[in-house]
Amino acid sequence: MRIQALSVIPEVFAPYMDASILGRAQKADVFSFEAFDLREWTHDKHRTVDDAPFGGGPGMLMRPEPLFESVQAIQAKNIEAHTAPAHVIFFTPAAPRFDQQKAQELAQKEALLFVCGRYEGMDERAFSLADECLSLGDFVLTGGELAAMAVSDAVVRLLPGALGNEEGASDESFSVAGLLEYEQYTRPADFLGQKVPEILLSGDHKKVAAWRLANAIKRTAKLRPDLLHALQLTEEMRALMNSELTEAEKNQVERALNDAEKN
Ligand code: SAM
Repeated sequence: MRIQALSVIPEVFAPYMDASILGRAQKADVFSFEAFDLREWTHDKHRTVDDAPFGGGPGMLMRPEPLFESVQAIQAKNIEAHTAPAHVIFFTPAAPRFDQQKAQELAQKEALLFVCGRYEGMDERAFSLADECLSLGDFVLTGGELAAMAVSDAVVRLLPGALGNEEGASDESFSVAGLLEYEQYTRPADFLGQKVPEILLSGDHKKVAAWRLANAIKRTAKLRPDLLHALQLTEEMRALMNSELTEAEKNQVERALNDAEKN
């Protein structure tokens, strides 16, 4: 996979993208990353990319011309070098929220081009360049660079060869739709009187797996009941809820499942 990012501060990417798992994945050719400086596509002495909004109001907006020129130039190069243009994603809070399902979808693409906004955002006409727009969440960042790195990270770890065996992405929050991950513990088994659940020390893999699934359901109902609408509750899950959860916990899960269904 090729990942590209367009930004007015392209220097912010390297420390994160070249470090740790992402750095290793780049070296192993799992993906490549390239950051472009939007100012390369300006034509004035001050390399201006922004201007005041029509109609007044605070702050500055990114002008459409450098955005059009840059995206078109990067895509022309992509076609020349790789035959396929990149899937273009603009970051803005005014867009559907990025989630694990979207990460899985994007992990199937050959190339992604992330366009990072700054200032008060972009001239609306620039969004016509986007194949899609994404938000990282219901808050406002000063720029799209963190969003680009967060999405890159979530996508790359799904690519074959990005994670070592010991770091697998298959048994995590959202790997079963509608479920958070179960609670996890490491040594010591007793930390300041807080004990690891006995079953996890038993060495009985079947029982551990059952406990984990029941724990994931209970935990999701408690922490993120809104997610449960996506959960396909199997017979096995129902049986585990009956055997592993207390009456109060079962009631909480049932309530959360009903609420999720209603919403
Ligand atoms: N005025 C815009 C609004 O109210 O929607 C916010 C602009 S924000 C200060 C500047 C840039 O940061 C945006 O163009 C976008 O690229 C990025 N950004 C801010 N919040 C974001 C979020 N939640 N998700 C993704 N990108 C975000």
